[in-house]
Amino acid sequence: MAETLPFQAEVRQLLDLVVHSLYSDREIFLRELISNASDALDRARLAGLTRTDLLAAEGEPHIELEINRDLGTLIVRDNGIGLNREQAVEHLGTIARSGTKAFAQALREKGNNAEGLIGQFGVGFYASFMVSTKVEVHSLSGEPGAEPVLWTSDGAGEFVVEPGSRSTRGTAVTVHFRSDCTEFLDSWKVKDIVKRHSRFVAYPVLLEGEKLNEDQALWARNPSEVTDDEYKGFYKQAFHEWQDPAGWVHFRAEAPLEYQAVLYFPQERPFDLDYPDAKRGVALYQRRVLIQEQSDQFLPRYLRFVRGLIDAPEVSLNVSREILQNTPVLRSIKNQVVKRVLRRLKEIGREDVAGYTKFWENFGTTLKEGVAEDKDNVDAITPLLRFRTTAGDDWRDLAQIKADMKDGQKELWYLTGLDLGRLRASPQLEAFKKKGWEVILLSDPVDEWVVMNLTEYDGVKLQSASRGELDKDDDPIAEEARKQTEPFAGWVKELLGDAVAGVRPSRRLTDSPSVLVDEGQMSSNMERILRATRQGGGPKASRVLEINPEHVLVKRLVSLHHDGNTADAEPLARLLLDYAQLAEGHVEDVAGLTTRLSALMLKAAGG
Ligand code: ADP
Ligand code: MG
Repeated sequence: MAETLPFQAEVRQLLDLVVHSLYSDREIFLRELISNASDALDRARLAGLTRTDLLAAEGEPHIELEINRDLGTLIVRDNGIGLNREQAVEHLGTIARSGTKAFAQALREKGNNAEGLIGQFGVGFYASFMVSTKVEVHSLSGEPGAEPVLWTSDGAGEFVVEPGSRSTRGTAVTVHFRSDCTEFLDSWKVKDIVKRHSRFVAYPVLLEGEKLNEDQALWARNPSEVTDDEYKGFYKQAFHEWQDPAGWVHFRAEAPLEYQAVLYFPQERPFDLDYPDAKRGVALYQRRVLIQEQSDQFLPRYLRFVRGLIDAPEVSLNVSREILQNTPVLRSIKNQVVKRVLRRLKEIGREDVAGYTKFWENFGTTLKEGVAEDKDNVDAITPLLRFRTTAGDDWRDLAQIKADMKDGQKELWYLTGLDLGRLRASPQLEAFKKKGWEVILLSDPVDEWVVMNLTEYDGVKLQSASRGELDKDDDPIAEEARKQTEPFAGWVKELLGDAVAGVRPSRRLTDSPSVLVDEGQMSSNMERILRATRQGGGPKASRVLEINPEHVLVKRLVSLHHDGNTADAEPLARLLLDYAQLAEGHVEDVAGLTTRLSALMLKAAGG
């Protein structure tokens, strides 16, 4: 029975754009169809590894192209897994692939004049409507008992599904070309397109009996014989990427353990990189045969942005072939692969500063997780880290920061907080600015874990600028002012009670009257992060209020207190704590602050 169904709304929108755009790279429709055929062959092979009930394919796995000039058609035929009626409706009528989903999202955001989006994302199967008046899909699924199906559409808004006539397992997609697309009926042209876009497809791609693609797997070749363009082309084809990679590493190990790997660093951060359920990992091959599309057992989580494949014949699979056995072989490969990846990133950081900066901006927060997660490789990870600092707007690495330490500076200083703007303006930095010492500014949540695990760099301690008392700098006048401020500080502590762990004259301020500093193990920023992620409120940070003995307001308060005029001093003394909290962007007692402020304003206005 024939059934006419509408495309999903997002598909209609996408088709509208595809059909009407004057997209210049129309030839990519062929790449998309061949890539789908190759995926279908992969799926059949993977299913065949564990199942015996699938309908067998006729002949060896292959992809065949057939041009019919009289009918104005091109057929892309495969003997892969096939589609049943339900799957045809689902997969060819809705937005199926994640890339297309991202496309639909971009379309929603940018509206209909989304120029360049097609090239950016690729539109999979729907690309065939760029060149055609009609597309037919004849398929027979390998599932036991499946019936053949015919799916047809002109790409306008609806498609028809009806019983088909295909008698062997697999799919044939017939494209009826538009009158302005007859160039694709030329076999020379088709060969050229396949050679450029589908060269690395793992199954034979045949036209008129001739095999058009490569024999040798790229990763089995000698790295010195593979060109950059080949690496880039392979990346796009094998991993369905639309952009060049930011970099890659290719290596082959022979004895005692044989394996090969080609691993890529993408340019853009995938939107689902942090989704807990998103599948990540590299493809596992054994002697050029795909075993798992995404295996997460070769790379640690903090390298989850890496794409690529590992051909490791000696890794043993469990019976269901779904998970790898955690054998010494696997562990040893994993160890080596991680080291190679980290080493390559270090090289890129040196060779291509601009490229690495972009990579860091996309993946730095992810890579930083490694400092906490991968103790064995911390020394290889630290040279990869880049930081914002008070020295300027550029990203800096620890070697640069250490090299630029000033005389008398014994530690590398850092300050953690909510965002860069607030950090740069923080009163905590006043003394450092005065001395000209560089302070690392850390505003990613993950940074708290970084500094908990990275306590030293190349023999120099990393030290929080917001923790504890700073060293005495032998300034007798300042020390005298501090002494005179002490009784007042004691009184303020009584006044504030448990709101602070202590009050003391400060050595870190030049301009501000007061600042809060950390004393306990956990920084207040860490505490705020834990509260936000609801990981339970660990120990409360014991914070000390430091006051600036040389600030006019503090001097005035010290003298009011000295003269016993505590009634006038009290509201202002309380404001010292409010001020310190405001500077951090987080006030505990908002009601108290507004009351104190309005009283103060009234007084200032002569009320
Ligand atoms: P993607 O390939 O990224 O999933 P496409 O738009 O290219 O997205 O294809 C959509 C879906 O249609 C595929 O995921 C697959 O399920 C199905 N499909 C397309 N072509 C074939 C084919 N030749 N054999 C089997 N299934 C196919
Ligand atoms: Mg596809």
